[in-house]
Amino acid sequence: MILDQHPDSPRLGMKAIGYWKIEVDPKISSLLGRDTAKEEPLPDPRDFVGEWEDDYVKQRVVSYIKNAPAIIHWKGWSECRFGCPATSGGIYARGLDLGSACLSDGTYVWPEGFHHYLDVHNVIPPRVFLMHVLSKPDDWMVKNAKLITEKHGDGY
Ligand SMILES: [Zn+2]
Repeated sequence: MILDQHPDSPRLGMKAIGYWKIEVDPKISSLLGRDTAKEEPLPDPRDFVGEWEDDYVKQRVVSYIKNAPAIIHWKGWSECRFGCPATSGGIYARGLDLGSACLSDGTYVWPEGFHHYLDVHNVIPPRVFLMHVLSKPDDWMVKNAKLITEKHGDGY
């Protein structure tokens, strides 16, 4: 689940977490001139569904990743890979809109909607990421958000 770099912004120089594969109809990808079978495969969130050891850990991690500042803004949006239905967006929305920004704590970068997978679908991040989050004080993100934005904001 942890990638050495952001799949679309390698220049960030940060580890990335929570970027999932997109199911592309082979007919559509050939129309786009892409051979998606040959592209670097991103992980499938279904492979990481489990049980949280502890609700406290879940709440801490969800709150941490939710409250991180946005450092990249994209034009498209991401939809829930588990098929949660759209709650807004009218006729163009097919699935639940999970945002179009990437958030970061300066060490890792993740998509704006990453918290949804952890919170609603019980996708469990690797222990190294959990330890990274839990090693920080409760108010770390609040205190560091400005600094992270200044250092990495829109750095793609
Ligand atoms: Zn969902």
